[in-house]
Amino acid sequence: MSKLRKINQDNLREHNLSVVMSTLLSSAVPLSRADIAKSTGLTKAAMSLLSDILLKNEVIRQLKPSTESTYGRPSTPLQFNPRRWAGIGLQINTDGYGYTVLDLAGGAVRTEWISEPLIEVTPEEIFEKLDRMVRPVERDMKQMGYTLCGAGLALPGLVEGNKRLLIAKNLGWTNVDLTQFGVVRRLDAKADNEANLAAQAQISGYAAHSISDEMPLDSSSSFIYISTDIGIGGAFVRDGQVIFGDHDFGGELGHVSVDWRGPKCPCGRHGCLEMYAGRRALVEAAGIATGEEAAKTDSINRLLDAWREGEPKAVLAIDQGLSAMVSVLSSAVNILDIDTIVLGGFWSRFDDALAHLLERRIQSQVLGRESMRIRVLMPTVADHPSLAGAAATGLRQLIDHPLRFLTV
Ligand SMILES: [Zn+2]
Repeated sequence: MSKLRKINQDNLREHNLSVVMSTLLSSAVPLSRADIAKSTGLTKAAMSLLSDILLKNEVIRQLKPSTESTYGRPSTPLQFNPRRWAGIGLQINTDGYGYTVLDLAGGAVRTEWISEPLIEVTPEEIFEKLDRMVRPVERDMKQMGYTLCGAGLALPGLVEGNKRLLIAKNLGWTNVDLTQFGVVRRLDAKADNEANLAAQAQISGYAAHSISDEMPLDSSSSFIYISTDIGIGGAFVRDGQVIFGDHDFGGELGHVSVDWRGPKCPCGRHGCLEMYAGRRALVEAAGIATGEEAAKTDSINRLLDAWREGEPKAVLAIDQGLSAMVSVLSSAVNILDIDTIVLGGFWSRFDDALAHLLERRIQSQVLGRESMRIRVLMPTVADHPSLAGAAATGLRQLIDHPLRFLTV
């Protein structure tokens, strides 16, 4: 009986620590113990005990007491400690690979990305490169006094159970057991589809303290994230939670067909969105390049230049891609009843006018248009968002399971 009671008390303490950290994460300003107690319903005594644990473990720090307080007494604001706890994100994509280390206070401690088209590269080769890249970073982080709480791994395909890549057509990889790679085992990296992680990166205060007025999406937001590259992926977020689906395979917007007589997609279907609005498809349709050349990131820069200069073939290709995007996103809105769309990947590099055009055209096609307003937002985290999301996944381990890391 006493053992059972102890377990319950530990569970309760773990839960309460998690609640306190989540409250701090979702606040734009530092909070005092009284503020946190008030918004969580914790007693002052419990709050004092929990903040002592977090202070002792250097999760938070105390700022100078402020003389202005709603209670008439000076209050001491608490803030996340910036240089102690971190998560690491890894990514392998069709356009390169890299890592980023994100700390609890929201700072990117270190990041590196190697841009190269990954075509006809074996998983063994690229995981070996990633391992060599990350190993010295792990050592340095330790020397700097950081604890890495966890790791995420973003991949451009279907990931099963966080440890198996079922298929990544654009890399040419199928059925890869990720636990065979040293870097995945060493960091216990939790693999996920890149779009799910990119969507997670847009949610302010998910794991790192990154709240600002410029982040319109928070832990209560619902949105559709579309990730555009050679392939097109997506993620659905409801009330701040990514909806993974029963097999973790949800959100595949790129393989929604807009024409069953259209060109054959590598997935086997015809007329999929990525055959019209994917990076390589657009470059080829605009006559910029073909084959492997079309897959290079430089080719999309050339397409964007041609489009801005009004080159007719480029304008037509983008227009067709836009129509396909409107069709698929309108269908997604009709299915999910979510009115906010975040345009991720290279499509966010077009100008705001294009986003507004997309917004207006989707608005005109959704069934509930009379009583809903579609918003198309550019991503707040636009630069390698999947990497940031992967690092946040690692860091989230501390928030979800504080007693694995903290001394009480
Ligand atoms: Zn397809």
